[in-house]
Amino acid sequence: MALFKKMETPQSSADKNVQPSGDAEHVKCLIIGSGPAGYTAAIYAARANLKPVVIQGMQAGGQLTTTTEVDNFPGYPDGTDGTAMMEDLKKQAERFGTEVRWGSVTAVDFSGKVHKVIVDGEKVIEADSVIISTGATAKYLGLESEEKYKGGGVSACATCDGFFYRGKDVAVVGGGDTAAEEATYLANLCKKVYLIIRKDYLRASKAMQKRVFEKENIEVLFEHNTKEVIGDGNVVEGVKLIKRKGQADEEEVEIKVDGFFLAIGHTPNSDVFKPYVETDETGYIITKPDSAKTNVPGVFACGDVQDHIYRQAVTAAGSGCMAALDAERYLAEKE
Ligand code: NDP
Repeated sequence: MALFKKMETPQSSADKNVQPSGDAEHVKCLIIGSGPAGYTAAIYAARANLKPVVIQGMQAGGQLTTTTEVDNFPGYPDGTDGTAMMEDLKKQAERFGTEVRWGSVTAVDFSGKVHKVIVDGEKVIEADSVIISTGATAKYLGLESEEKYKGGGVSACATCDGFFYRGKDVAVVGGGDTAAEEATYLANLCKKVYLIIRKDYLRASKAMQKRVFEKENIEVLFEHNTKEVIGDGNVVEGVKLIKRKGQADEEEVEIKVDGFFLAIGHTPNSDVFKPYVETDETGYIITKPDSAKTNVPGVFACGDVQDHIYRQAVTAAGSGCMAALDAERYLAEKE
């Protein structure tokens, strides 16, 4: 089912939105990351004549390109394909004059009035305003079999893919709030949900735990670790687990499931900005209330890199709009 987006050929650096400034190039608005947040920011910034340049990042199109059908983005009555949706957003941004470039930001210098961004370790771009929309990366267990069935029953987003497992049996790995939330969400759709937890307790809040234990079709498997995802070569058919019995004893058990959901956390892609931009203890960029402003004037953040709660394409897009409007106001006040 799921497809990773094919890498695109690097675009020419002789871009029309970049003006030379000394040795570096200079842009009014640089957008880093190309998920729903980044492209929505680009649409708004381009329409405001900020001539934005988007640096696509390692995963062009963002996390949505790792899923197939998107049924919950408003405006698509029959659903759409994640990769196709991101292509549409890119085209829409380009229609208003956004420059979309291949590359990854490897360093930044936000110490001066003009912000410096280094792309692929060599190219320097100076920007009057920067919008960070680098997203977050779902954590996986790192099993070979898990990689093999990504898009064939292995998913890191129950809200995105749970619908396809209506009336079926599924497993969720993780014991935090996300896992508890995803398990209860899936329990409303699926016949049975196994919640696989490596410890003998749930880390989730008491309120979330209560919701889990109240669902009759959730079976919590404490002290179980995933050994292997099994299937027919295309789709998931079950999971092999190692059950801990006492201090040194272990037993291998197998459960039959059609879906295997990871909910063991996300890593916000914020490392490169940390020397200048404030983050919380888990790395999410902190934005000022009711805005996309960071602690650095002229630097804004939107989408999953600053949102560990909602993490939806539509909320990312909404915050991308906010970031572009904030950047527009910032630049207008500076002029
Ligand atoms: P957490 O880091 O809180 O939990 C991750 C869970 O995954 C833990 O139970 C951890 O186990 C388990 N885990 C990690 N690695 C592995 C592994 N390799 N194998 C098996 N299990 C593993 O992440 P969440 O995404 O749940 O939450 C992130 C933050 O977002 C939290 O602060 C949470 O409260 C918040 N949140 C809030 C929500 C809300 O308020 N509605 C909803 C969702 C999240 P272990 O406990 O053994 O380390």
